[in-house]
Amino acid sequence: MGHPQARQIAIDGPAGAGKSTVARRLADKLGYLYIDTGAMYRASTWLALQNNIELTDGDAIAALASASKIQLKPADASSDGKIRVFVNDQEITREIRTNRMSDLVATVAALGQVRTILVDKQRELAREGECVIDGRDIGTVVVPDAGLKIFMTASAEERARRRQIELAAQGENPDFADLLKAINERDYLDMNRAVSPLTKAVDAVEIITDDMSIDEVVQTLENLAQETFQTPA
Ligand code: C5P
Repeated sequence: MGHPQARQIAIDGPAGAGKSTVARRLADKLGYLYIDTGAMYRASTWLALQNNIELTDGDAIAALASASKIQLKPADASSDGKIRVFVNDQEITREIRTNRMSDLVATVAALGQVRTILVDKQRELAREGECVIDGRDIGTVVVPDAGLKIFMTASAEERARRRQIELAAQGENPDFADLLKAINERDYLDMNRAVSPLTKAVDAVEIITDDMSIDEVVQTLENLAQETFQTPA
């Protein structure tokens, strides 16, 4: 009998592929903890803005993120299905999801010093037990021995369409062409940064979600989890 696999599900992929919605639902179904690592990069960006720190100042932002209490709490009716995020007990769930914040966060996420601090915090959370954890470098860097790794993607056009619907629900009404440009720019930054660029782990299962509903993706992953974590008789 082989070594029992860590019941951790790592989900990576570009912005807007549906990772966080799927990861949260999957975690709920399996009774696992959901860890949204993007929310931690967003919280660190918020901290930098709040303290008037240049978004390129890795040492200062890392020091601030390290000294701050960043908490992720389960979604509830107040948070539109997103997990709730608190920094030093102040709730910033909405503030970190604006279009402006989405454009700024990739700059902060490219800073090696900030990644070191946040990856430590992420590993600490993941050590607590069974979890679904999503981001860009989860299967490659954060939990490379996760039992199941998924690389979830979709075309840039489809992701921009989804983003438009999501922002409309928040009362924002950006132009489609601008959204597509922002998605392509964020992909470029995430895939070409020097530290932990977004890339598919060799042992990840790739799922292309253009023509799949959220329910279908969740079901596919649940089946994969069952196959992977089945305990031998
Ligand atoms: O997943 P989400 O869109 O909230 O992530 C926001 C940004 O944080 C991403 O565009 C990426 O730049 C960064 N990120 C990262 N590594 C992670 C999670 C997010 O670089 N593990």
